Amino acid sequence: MSLTRSQQMARICAIDTKPERLLRRALWSRGVRYRLHAATSGGRPDIAIGGKCPIGIFIDGCFFHGCPVHYVPPRSRIEFWRDKLAANVARDCRQTRALEDEGWRVFRVWEHEVFESADAIADRVVAIMSGAPLGSGPAWRVARVEWLDDERIRERRWLVDLRDEGRQTSEERIRSTKKVRAPKTVSGSRARVRRQ
Ligand SMILES: [Zn+2]
Repeated sequence: MSLTRSQQMARICAIDTKPERLLRRALWSRGVRYRLHAATSGGRPDIAIGGKCPIGIFIDGCFFHGCPVHYVPPRSRIEFWRDKLAANVARDCRQTRALEDEGWRVFRVWEHEVFESADAIADRVVAIMSGAPLGSGPAWRVARVEWLDDERIRERRWLVDLRDEGRQTSEERIRSTKKVRAPKTVSGSRARVRRQ
């Protein structure tokens, strides 16, 4: 099956996103060796580190994976994006569970965390490799948003816990358009968000 040009481009962008490059570079400089997009029963972690308790790292785009800080529901093609978000978050939960059931430690970071400090994230990975816990408490992500007014300013958002989809919380808030900012010091073009 041949891919259209835009499908090929989408694939290339998905494989080499800027936050991934940043984190890979920071890991490499710490002597960490890894595999990229290794096939597992729980999907393909962006970065996989082998060992007795392998670590699967996912760098989740703030828009496509429902970052609680940055997710903003688009005001056009509303149903399409609503379904897309729900499907992505459900898959994130499913993949994480599948990998953890197989003995992986799954470390999911937001794209904005990598942009804030790829070094800090790489340090955490190194700590996890030496047995540090992944962190406790719920890892919330936005699974659904509905508007409470015609102007689409006030939102009700439902968040689910990555490791327990049944655990949900909801909140009301005013639409925020906080942007994810890529660091300017890094060479290359502006960040591409992950499309999947
Ligand atoms: Zn974010």
